[in-house]
Amino acid sequence: MSSTIRIVNARSREVLDSRGNPTLETDVTVEAPDGRVLTRSAMVPSGASTGSCEATELRDGDTSRYLGKGVRQAIRHLQEEILPRIQGMDAANQSDLDKAMIDLDGTPLKSRLGANAILGVSLAAARAAALARETSLHQHIADLYGAAQGTTLPLPMMNILNGGAHADNSVDIQEFMILPVGAASLAEAVRVGSEVFQHLKRLLLEKRLSTGLGDEGGFAPNLDSSREALDLIADATHAAGYTLGKEVMLGLDCAASEFYADGAYQLEGRRLDADALCHWLAELARDYPIVSIEDGMAEDDWQGWGQLTRMIGDSIQLVGDDLFVTHAETLQRGVNERIANAILIKVNQIGTLTETLKTIRLAEASGYGVVISHRSGETEDAFIADLAVATNAGQIKTGSLSRSDRTAKYNRLIRIEEALGESARFHSSTGPVR
Ligand code: PGA
Ligand code: ZN
Repeated sequence: MSSTIRIVNARSREVLDSRGNPTLETDVTVEAPDGRVLTRSAMVPSGASTGSCEATELRDGDTSRYLGKGVRQAIRHLQEEILPRIQGMDAANQSDLDKAMIDLDGTPLKSRLGANAILGVSLAAARAAALARETSLHQHIADLYGAAQGTTLPLPMMNILNGGAHADNSVDIQEFMILPVGAASLAEAVRVGSEVFQHLKRLLLEKRLSTGLGDEGGFAPNLDSSREALDLIADATHAAGYTLGKEVMLGLDCAASEFYADGAYQLEGRRLDADALCHWLAELARDYPIVSIEDGMAEDDWQGWGQLTRMIGDSIQLVGDDLFVTHAETLQRGVNERIANAILIKVNQIGTLTETLKTIRLAEASGYGVVISHRSGETEDAFIADLAVATNAGQIKTGSLSRSDRTAKYNRLIRIEEALGESARFHSSTGPVR
């Protein structure tokens, strides 16, 4: 009897993501060593404020269907090219499987076959292999990663007020997040987040501000400034009975590439150079208990990133998202040049599980913080919850405390925490897990 978890089939279909756009759901069918035939699926997320060096999300461009966003080409590539190449391969040998697809594609950003076509197979194969091995997905990924066991429940960065490309309001900064650092467990952190979220809704209603939601399930009221947003969150935190700066900290994702043009930042009605933006952020972090800032500078502005890191990188977590796009080589450049001190990890920025794990490994070895992240366009697939625990990443960013596409991840983490029992450890701070 062979010990190989043999891939026997793979197929994809178009399903809807959280914004109502089509995305891929991919099934991988394997034959376990004991002869069981098992199928598991994965769904591919999709960004809006994407980095320019992300792996390619292949869209049909045929405007007669889904406004050009169909993914039938990617499905065809799976059927005609990927499946014949991977049939018979061992689903438990993730690195060989992913390498075969990378080589078959042959381009730096997976633009020929589509990173969405490749990623669906990569993630679904991991799920099928875990099932065949009769282990949990997080334990299977921990085995691939080289961690004895994933036992760290990540600190969630909860995006309860949305702006930028994720909402059609007047707020320039993309994400205002709360970090429940005072919680004793992941489940308690979720409770704290939910309570602050509900109080924020009350407050907005009182002030006759909109309680409509942005793409990541956070409120998206029209506000005049970032300070107004932070003040509202501070009030909601206090109303919920928590001390801001002690039990709850704040985080931002500026997504600064979105308001960077011609060497300057267009922010809240003003034109700022990198130096001015550095000072603006430093002041904000002095006036509010902000412990994490993501993409405070644009992806092309490595000089600005350097200045920001020198200025506040000792005291504040600076997370590179569009900057590093989950690519190990780009992160290595950042480490060499002392740019940022943490990385955002998005599976579809790079396109395979193996490459994702490689980048996380490098971040860990370099002393950088690791934040596993969703996309603004999500699905009910909670793969990233398992990924965060498996790699002991320590932090996760998966949106607000509403909308099933976001809560699916929190709910999965609650279940994993329960299953780990005594061995579960909640990482209640930013920065690397030590
Ligand atoms: P995106 O946003 O998924 O739209 O890129 C998330 C982020 O910028 O972190
Ligand atoms: Zn970001």
